[in-house]
Amino acid sequence: MGQRILVTGGAGFLGSHLCKRLLDEGNSVVCVDSFATSQRETIADLMEHPEFEVVEHDIVEPLYLDDIEAIYNLACPAAPGHYQYNPVRTMKTSVVGIINMLGMAKAKGIRLLHTSTSEVYGDPEISPQREDYNGNVNPIGRRSCYDEGKRAAETLMYDYNRQHGVDVKIVRIFNTYGPNMHPFDGRVVSNFIRQALAGDDITVFGDGSQTRSFCFVSDMIEALVRMMNSPADFHGPVNVGNPNERTILELAELVIELTGSSSSIVRKPLPPDDPTRRRPDLTLATERLGWEAVVPLEEGLRQTTEYLSKLDMSLWKPPTPFWEAPPLEA
Ligand code: NAD
Ligand code: UDP
Repeated sequence: MGQRILVTGGAGFLGSHLCKRLLDEGNSVVCVDSFATSQRETIADLMEHPEFEVVEHDIVEPLYLDDIEAIYNLACPAAPGHYQYNPVRTMKTSVVGIINMLGMAKAKGIRLLHTSTSEVYGDPEISPQREDYNGNVNPIGRRSCYDEGKRAAETLMYDYNRQHGVDVKIVRIFNTYGPNMHPFDGRVVSNFIRQALAGDDITVFGDGSQTRSFCFVSDMIEALVRMMNSPADFHGPVNVGNPNERTILELAELVIELTGSSSSIVRKPLPPDDPTRRRPDLTLATERLGWEAVVPLEEGLRQTTEYLSKLDMSLWKPPTPFWEAPPLEA
């Protein structure tokens, strides 16, 4: 017998894959999403499923749902262009949104898994980053609405656990990519592949020597499900990602090679506070979840390229600012 599971942000990139996985395992899924950074196209196939329900709702507002047995909280703009677009809303989503979800978990006595981020480490002074590294975050920069919001959400998760006994799980996600990314989210993988397919210039920010470690979405979803099902005394935070670190310039060259593109690489200014390196220490994930990333970057990029090459780009718009969005349903 499956569970009735709430996935906030379920219409987004990671959320859509997670909803599918949970449905495939025989669960009933309630996807709560404001569509701030996603479109219904991403979950069109799931809409046919009798056990899939969509509630258009912003988690900054209180939410009451019956019979929920577990919560995955993914709702939050994740791409820098998205979360900096309306930074106050981003911070509210992380802070007020998680309080609403923790309130539901407390009232129902159910487990809540929260998707935090490698951004809690800011621009790290150590590499690879371990969970006990407290980070190097600018509290007042352009990225702070996201980084500090996510840090505050982790604090709230632990405080609700200590103060109210809420069953909490925290995962720190490192850069993840794959099919179902919004083609105009501005993240590096979607940008580079879209640019390469169109024969446009590939925009490398700065000198391209900054690093990221790219995890394919199927590996990430496996880790999220394992964390949700891990023993109750393991709250995390646990790093999840791929340890294979690449410079952004290397990524640009690899995308050109894999797509056979004639695009050229051009340099653009490096955005402020752009972290110089990111690589997860995955010891904890290996020990406690028995998990490791298995999809090589080349294979993941091939699958992402296939997805992006089939999209009708005219259907995809940059996200609507919240003040222009239609009123939310009650
Ligand atoms: P995404 O933007 O594709 O998905 C986020 C979803 O949340 C979207 O469907 C969006 O409409 C929804 N949303 C945003 N604000 C909301 C609100 N206030 N109420 C309800 N819904 C809201 O991003 P993603 O890559 O799928 O990220 C999912 C989660 O994982 C986020 O919390 C993100 O911070 C975290 N994460 C992702 C990555 C990554 O590399 N993909 C890295 C670190 C952390
Ligand atoms: N980046 C880039 N060109 C782009 C988009 C991003 O060079 O068109 C760089 C960006 O400056 C950062 C890295 O790629 O160093 C990853 O950016 P992304 O927005 O995907 O995520 P981040 O890890 O910064 O949150």
